[in-house]
Amino acid sequence: MIDVRWGLIGASNIARQYVIDAIRSQPNGQVVAVMSSSMDHAKSYAVENDIPAAYDDVGALLASHNVDAVYISSTNEKHHDQAIAAARAGKHVLCEKPLALTLEDARAMVAAAHEAGVVMGTNHHLRNAAAHRTMRQAIKDGRIGRPIAARVFHAVYLPESLQGWRIDNPAAGGGVVLDISVHDADTLRFVLDDEPEEVVALTQSAGMAHGALEDGVMAAIRFRSGLIAQIHDSFTVPYAGTGFEVHGTEGSLIARDVMTQQPIGTIVLRTAAGDEALEIAHENLYVHALRLFHSAIAGEGEPAATGEDGVRSLALGLAVLEAARTGHVVPVEPGL
Ligand code: NDP
Repeated sequence: MIDVRWGLIGASNIARQYVIDAIRSQPNGQVVAVMSSSMDHAKSYAVENDIPAAYDDVGALLASHNVDAVYISSTNEKHHDQAIAAARAGKHVLCEKPLALTLEDARAMVAAAHEAGVVMGTNHHLRNAAAHRTMRQAIKDGRIGRPIAARVFHAVYLPESLQGWRIDNPAAGGGVVLDISVHDADTLRFVLDDEPEEVVALTQSAGMAHGALEDGVMAAIRFRSGLIAQIHDSFTVPYAGTGFEVHGTEGSLIARDVMTQQPIGTIVLRTAAGDEALEIAHENLYVHALRLFHSAIAGEGEPAATGEDGVRSLALGLAVLEAARTGHVVPVEPGL
C-alpha cells in the first residue's frame, strides 16, 4: 500500500478537531505539512499537531515532492485559487465546502482537477454518516414507498469559538447558508438520490450575524421527482435539536440528532405496521470520508462527495440566497 502524504492548506479548527485524526486513522495516511498565511500560526499549529513542516506560502507547500494530497480548510474565498494551484501541481484535492463563492469558480476547480487527472472531493461530512446511508438504503429498498416530502432541522447555536468570519465577513463567504444549508443540500441529494430544481426562501439576522449576513434561514425546495423539502438552519437556536424526516406514500423515516459531526442519532421507520427503530452501524464520519478518498486515489471508486457534488450543493446554496434576496422562486443551476 503506497503512503498518502497530506499537506494541510489552512491551519483550521476543523482539521485539528477531526481531519488530522481521520487521515492518521488510515493505514497509509500521513500529515506531512501545514500552511497558514501567518508563519507564526503555521509553526505553532505544526508543533501542537505533530506535523513536520510549516509553510506560509501555498506555492512552497505545493512544490514539496513529499506531498501527494492536500486538504483545503482555509476560509471560503481562498478555496478556489488554492485548489486550482494544487491540482496543477499534481496533488489530489479534498476541499472544504462551500467549494467557492460562485458557481463559475467552483466549476473551474473541478475542471482543473479533471485536466490534471487528480482526485477531487468535497468534504460534505454528513453523507458519510451511517444514519444518512441507512436512510438512503431504506428509501432505495422501497420501505416508505414513493418519497413525497422531506424536512431538515439544522438550527444550532454557533459556539463562541466559531463566531468569527462566519458572522461578520461576507467576503470570506460567511453566513448560515454557505455554512450549513450547503450541507443540507448535499445530504438531501444523497439520501433522496434526487436533484433540486427550484427554491423559495426567507433569511433573518436574529442577533448574531453582522452587516448583510444572515444567521437563520427557512427554505422550501422542489426536487426533480416532485418531492418538496423544507430546511431550517440557524446559528442562534440553542435548544431545537437536529433532525431529518422523509415522508413517503407507505411510510415515514424520522431521524433525530443526525445533522451533526458526531456518529450519533436514531431513525424510526413508521408504517402501517407501527414504529421500527432502524439499526445504525455508527462510524466516525471523517474516517469514512478519508477511507473512500484514499481508495479513490488507489483507483477504486470515488470520494464520498465528489467535486461535482460540491458544485451542486453550492448551486442550491446560492439559489437560496438569491430567492431570499429577491422574494422570487429561483431555479437551481445544474452542476457542471
Ligand atoms: P478556522 O476559522 O479555524 O480557520 C480558517 C482560517 O482562518 C485558517 O486557515 C487561517 O487562515 C485562519 N486562522 C485561524 N486561526 C488562526 C490564527 N490563530 N492565526 C492566524 N490565522 C488563523 O476555520 P474552520 O475550521 O471553522 O473552517 C474552515 C473551513 O472548513 C471552512 O471552509 C468551513 O466552511 C469548513 N468547515 C467544514 C466542516 C465540515 O464538517 N465539513 C466543519 C467546519 C468547517 P490561513 O490558513 O489562510 O492563515
